[in-house]
Amino acid sequence: MRIDPGVCISCGSCVVWCPLRAIRMEDVAVVDRDECVECGACRRADVCPVDAFRSESDERPYRFAFSDPSVAKPTGIAGRGTEEMKTNDVTGRFKRGRVGICIEPGRPGTGARFHDIEKITTTMAGLGAHFEPANPLTRLISVQTGKLQEDIRDEKVMSAVIECDFPEPQLREVIRALDAIADHVDCVFSVSCIGRAETDGLVTLEHTLRELGIAYYPNGKTNLGMGRPLAAEVDEQ
Ligand code: SF4
Ligand code: SF4
Repeated sequence: MRIDPGVCISCGSCVVWCPLRAIRMEDVAVVDRDECVECGACRRADVCPVDAFRSESDERPYRFAFSDPSVAKPTGIAGRGTEEMKTNDVTGRFKRGRVGICIEPGRPGTGARFHDIEKITTTMAGLGAHFEPANPLTRLISVQTGKLQEDIRDEKVMSAVIECDFPEPQLREVIRALDAIADHVDCVFSVSCIGRAETDGLVTLEHTLRELGIAYYPNGKTNLGMGRPLAAEVDEQ
């Protein structure tokens, strides 16, 4: 994002709307281009009385794609993650005996550079992760090594969602690797572990998380009845 210095009247209204604190007041408002992730929040806030914002989404498509969730370019998949991660009863994506791992570097509030995101994807790849193919970030990495394409490594984005899965017995090893990497990335990241409920209602990965002393917050989403036939088919494969 750019602010046209010939148009801005220095009212200061936009500064608080930037989640990355990339707007500062000089003689007029100025955007720090290196910190700006092209999320468009400043412009969408509709507080500028003179329409001084100039989007640079075309010039910086990767920042735009991973910061504005409505954008599909240039990965071909809209948003930061897949649309169906929370609806396993429809997709059957997470099989019994596997644990889904979702890592979101950058939120809340810090944003993330792709070279930090790559530290996580390479670590996951080194542990044998199966990366979700219908995920925009997966389109940008080698699924064998987790390496990102070179030309975008210094780009900053609001966040990106890494989605992969492992055999459930590997959960402890994966969590420990993520714990270790937290000291080596210059951003925050959240981790979600995804497991299927057994017929008795238990989710077995809870035991492992408890043993590791992790305070977890269970979340679930059920589309009652909607996906049962598909889930049953996948189980039988
Ligand atoms: S586009 Fe987003 S990151 Fe860039 S200045 Fe506006 S609010 Fe801040
Ligand atoms: S809201 Fe518009 S006029 Fe006011 S400081 Fe920001 S860019 Fe300038």
